[in-house]
Amino acid sequence: MSSTDTLTTPVGGPSLPQERRLVTSIPGPRSQALLARKAAAVSAGVGHTVPIEAVAAGGGVVVDADGNSLIDLGAGIAVTTVGNAHPKVVEAVQAQVAQFVHTCFTISPYEGYVAVAEALNRVTPGDHAKKSALFNSGAEAVENAVKIARKFTGRQAVVAFDHGYHGRTNLTMGLTAKTMPYKSGFGPFAPEIYRMPLSYPYRDGLTGAEAAARAISMIEKQIGADSLAAIIIEPIQGEGGFIVPAEGFLGALVDWSRANGVVFIADEIQTGFARTGAMFASDVFGIVPDVITTAKGIAGGMPLAAVTGRAEIMDASHVGGLGGTYGGNPVACAAALATIEVFEEEDLAQRAVAVGDILVRRLTEMQQADPRIGDVRGRGAMVAAEFVDPATGAPDAALTSAVAKACIAEGVIVLTCGTYGNVIRFLPPLSIPDELLEEGLDVVAASLAAH
Ligand SMILES: *Cc1c(COP(=O)(O)O)cnc(C)c1O
Repeated sequence: MSSTDTLTTPVGGPSLPQERRLVTSIPGPRSQALLARKAAAVSAGVGHTVPIEAVAAGGGVVVDADGNSLIDLGAGIAVTTVGNAHPKVVEAVQAQVAQFVHTCFTISPYEGYVAVAEALNRVTPGDHAKKSALFNSGAEAVENAVKIARKFTGRQAVVAFDHGYHGRTNLTMGLTAKTMPYKSGFGPFAPEIYRMPLSYPYRDGLTGAEAAARAISMIEKQIGADSLAAIIIEPIQGEGGFIVPAEGFLGALVDWSRANGVVFIADEIQTGFARTGAMFASDVFGIVPDVITTAKGIAGGMPLAAVTGRAEIMDASHVGGLGGTYGGNPVACAAALATIEVFEEEDLAQRAVAVGDILVRRLTEMQQADPRIGDVRGRGAMVAAEFVDPATGAPDAALTSAVAKACIAEGVIVLTCGTYGNVIRFLPPLSIPDELLEEGLDVVAASLAAH
């Protein structure tokens, strides 16, 4: 391990030593004590991936109560993209907290909300007139995007895709593809949701045009364009396995939607804000959605979400039809404004490309040495490895879970995903030093070799 003084944090973050440091096994005694209290006090339905008590985080590490410092390759699921406790976000939050913390924007409006809407209208894809509305969580943004599309079109049906993930509220559970753990036993789900096949190049062998034609033909036969309010899709599936659609798939869906008066909603809650090497994944694929949902990376860790779209679509709802008590909270808005400034000033989209180059190089080397890695894919700093039985190509969830657990035990936070549970996804904070990222990937390689 390099000396900690030579490991600087390239962007933001508190000055925590940027190192992997294990002083106990994981979980250590303090973490174990908290997890025991959690088991007694917190609903069993609320799980956890890393068995620690987190006490500090920044740059590329999460520090636990026992003094262990873990390399963070998950960024709290693509949330702390600018780095945890980025000094500019901290400053903006502290200043706003001291000023006022709440009025309810739909009672007494304030500038921060309007400024976030202006920023989102500016940075999201397309140069058409746009408007935004702010909410608390990704699921709430998705719910509102669907409400808005239905009101605008006067139609009810919504198309979602295989492997899609859109949240855990009732409507968004219905939109989400995977039953376990997201839906099982929680129905009935909302009506008028139709699921279509995705483009999944590693498994379907179709071109983007072929996969789009398949989905469009099913939509026309099973629903009919004149009943369809919206198509909602993640440009790269997040929870579904970091599935990158074949070239042309998204563009064909956008063109068909536009020709048929269907609102095309890009759910960029996981792909958004520099993660994929551009401000939005839609930019990477050269598409301009009608509506885009954002959350996760938007506010440097504070809870905020948004729906941004064509002005005429966003204005179709009657006054009072959209909103909520906390939506666009002033503290979260201050954090978002600081965060968006950091994305632009520090050119984090370019940083995501550099992080992605390291991830793809190292994972491709591992794949060449080990055929159990069937596929390495992603864009920017959103990269995944899919684990399979090399003989049959069948998903290997047991290996995936064993490797991920071994990484965590060795002080590297990795997250799994995928409909078949056989994908490890890498989405580090962009403030992670290169050396630390390389060390984290050394641990992944060693964990794989040991299983
Ligand atoms: C996380 C996520 C959501 C849900 O966001 P929450 O803030 O957890 O409600 C929706 N869509 C996508 C693509 C996500 O990754």
